[in-house]
Amino acid sequence: MIVIMQHGAPDGQIDHVIERIEQLGLTPHVSRGQFRTIIGAIGDKQPAHQQILESLEGVERVVPIMKPYKLASREFHEADTEVDVGGVTLGPKTVTIIAGPCAIENRPMLERIARIVRDGGGAILRGGAFKPRTSPYDFQGLGEDGLKMLRDVGDELGMPVVSEVLAATDVELVGRYVDMLQIGARNMQNFQLLKEVGDCDKPVLLKRGFAATIREYLMSAEYVLSRGNRSVVLCERGIKTFENELRFTFDVSAVPLVKANCHLPMIVDPSHATGARQFVMPLALAGVAAGADGVMVEVHDCPEDALCDGPQALLGEMFNELVRQISAVAGALGRKVNRGT
Ligand code: PEP
Ligand code: MN
Repeated sequence: MIVIMQHGAPDGQIDHVIERIEQLGLTPHVSRGQFRTIIGAIGDKQPAHQQILESLEGVERVVPIMKPYKLASREFHEADTEVDVGGVTLGPKTVTIIAGPCAIENRPMLERIARIVRDGGGAILRGGAFKPRTSPYDFQGLGEDGLKMLRDVGDELGMPVVSEVLAATDVELVGRYVDMLQIGARNMQNFQLLKEVGDCDKPVLLKRGFAATIREYLMSAEYVLSRGNRSVVLCERGIKTFENELRFTFDVSAVPLVKANCHLPMIVDPSHATGARQFVMPLALAGVAAGADGVMVEVHDCPEDALCDGPQALLGEMFNELVRQISAVAGALGRKVNRGT
């Protein structure tokens, strides 16, 4: 349920409503707007609860949230949410470009690629240190050493950084180095991991599982939000279908569908969706045209030597062209490429 307070309801009344929500065994989630406060009452709702809350002073009305994801829904929070990632705001006014190598291989390589990304118009640097590889014999990432390099290069170039955390027990470690924690597609329903990042104070980039429905996806976002972490960014990265010419099928419909039902920022990752650099640009543009708030792509200065995902990595000139084209599509929609801090 959402308790909508009257315009300008005083703090005392708001506090009393919060107290009553707690007494009913529900969890209050307060959202203070410019004119009015709304309070989500989330939990095991009983039929009598609505009436009890409606009778409290300062309450204008109480409405049930129909969607199974409550805090993620537009019913709970109508306006688009903005998420601050180390000083870069992801949200509806801009298109934010996140780019970097699939995996951090060594410091000089990371720095060279980061310069390409920054000079080309990327606002946030990505790089994997804990890699979720299909084969245990493939490069698994440099772990903490990689994270140190990422932090170092990000600081040197003035860019916030994002990296994947694979396990609940690593959240604290990865969180020490990054500005945003990435949950990969394979972990979208790792509920213990979702709870753990929900308890921390870092923004979370939650990728869609490749076999997840939109509803399941938003329920995963709900796990993070329900623990108190409101800074969640969603990412469409392709799903499995019967089509297998490309690595996955980029589900562009996910963007307007999610945005219609959910207030969180959403970006697209055409690199993992396609697995082939030739198709990264058209799908990035499709995602932006569909309303995405950002694009994440992989970049490498020598893809044939890349330890992971070389075939989908963009070279410098391709990345520059991608940003130019995104800028044109964004401009047609009244948005700008996010130039960061
Ligand atoms: C990644 O972004 O590095 C990655 C592994 O992506 P996904 O989880 O979408 O496969
Ligand atoms: Mn990759």
